[in-house]
Amino acid sequence: MGRRIIVIGGGASGLIAAARAAELGSDTLIIERMERPARKLAITGKGRCNFTTGHDVAHAIEAFGANGRFLHSAFGRFYSEDIIAILESRGVRVKEERGKRYFPESDKALDVVDALAGAAKDSGARLLSGYRVSRIAVESGCVWGAEAKGAAEEPELFEADAVILATGGMSYPGTGSTGDGYRLARALGHTIVSPVPALAPIDLVGDAHVGLSPLSLKNVSAALESGGEVVIKQFGEMMFTPFGATGLIILDMGKIVAGKKAGERMELVVNFKPAMSPEQVRARLLREFEAAGAGSVRKALETMLPKRAVPVALRLAGVALERKASQVTKEQRDAIQTQLTGMRFEVKGARPIEEAIVTAGGVALAEINPRTMESRIVRGLFVCGELLDIDGPTGGFNLQAAFSTGYLAGESAAAE
Ligand SMILES: Cc1cc2nc3c(=O)[nH]c(=O)nc-3n(C[C@H](O)[C@H](O)[C@H](O)COP(=O)(O)OP(=O)(O)OC[C@H]3O[C@@H](n4cnc5c(N)ncnc54)[C@H](O)[C@@H]3O)c2cc1C
Repeated sequence: MGRRIIVIGGGASGLIAAARAAELGSDTLIIERMERPARKLAITGKGRCNFTTGHDVAHAIEAFGANGRFLHSAFGRFYSEDIIAILESRGVRVKEERGKRYFPESDKALDVVDALAGAAKDSGARLLSGYRVSRIAVESGCVWGAEAKGAAEEPELFEADAVILATGGMSYPGTGSTGDGYRLARALGHTIVSPVPALAPIDLVGDAHVGLSPLSLKNVSAALESGGEVVIKQFGEMMFTPFGATGLIILDMGKIVAGKKAGERMELVVNFKPAMSPEQVRARLLREFEAAGAGSVRKALETMLPKRAVPVALRLAGVALERKASQVTKEQRDAIQTQLTGMRFEVKGARPIEEAIVTAGGVALAEINPRTMESRIVRGLFVCGELLDIDGPTGGFNLQAAFSTGYLAGESAAAE
């Protein structure tokens, strides 16, 4: 038998790490605290799993921002074509959607979970589920095992030549990712960059969003402004909820909002008609109001906005709902146009980390060798996945990073 490897966490990165390590002949044991592996993977992409991106490596590295360079070797070793090959070899057909997002053709994240768990199992990796690792055993700067507790009273000690830490971040703790990895890594001397929510919904001030909720919008644009300057602007889908806003184009703003300083004023500006020029919106409003004549401005506006948004737009524009469309003044029409193309909401903050899609922060990258994923502090300890201080935008980037760093960790741990 090859080297004995323990993979802590049977999520996206852990399953791939285990599959690769076992494939290379290692005696591989996955220790997973939940009864079933990859609970988070199973709910990704609203249950459809946007498992990777069709963008090339250079684009993906840039998408990860300042820390993206760390992923060079991992992406170079294992990228989207490789995860697609694994899935297809196990009967999971894949499809590309708008924005180069890849999904299983079945739209079932569980198919991806089954394929990866199957790949690990068929490579010879064993899964010990329902066991929570509480300590990594180290002597003279070198890993030799991990302690985990199952249903029994006493924790058990498992010996190993290498340990791969793949416990994820701390968002959606119900899936098993509760931040244990930060504690385990810190106990061994690693620096943890403070975890903060990334890809998080945002809370809004006031009650306009409450009036709009629940409302799902497609093909709108949303800009986040700080001190009057646009920080990020996105086009696509979003939702108003009782607390504020969420959806694909909002989540990418979460991390910036989480970094909002005391006293800093941030606004979310939503354009319901981004495909139309201001002149086109003006002309259309005029046409609709003329056509409606003695009918209410409310009814006239329903031809241009979702029904739920009309009373809110009119209230914010200071126009009575039942005012006759023909009696709307030019000033009022301008005010309505402003709401259609730039409805403003003051931003309170990001939702808590538990509700974020991804946790930013984590094990400091300077302490991990990017060519192997091995710790520079403890020999034989490898770190991969969301636990690392990396986080990317929506679009399959985060799962690809988990797969790539997991694969590299599994390969390096087996090769040492
Ligand atoms: C709702 C939601 C939707 C998402 N959608 C997408 C998407 O469509 N595309 C995308 O790219 N990303 C998406 N993500 C992000 C993506 O799921 C994560 O970045 C990815 O799963 C991270 O993989 P990981 O292996 O590092 O951690 P995880 O997948 O979280 O796995 C960690 C595993 O470790 C186990 N564990 C933790 N502590 C211990 C311990 N002490 N002992 C034993 N086991 C332990 C956990 O139970 C878990 O199974 C989504 C996230 C959420 C929450």
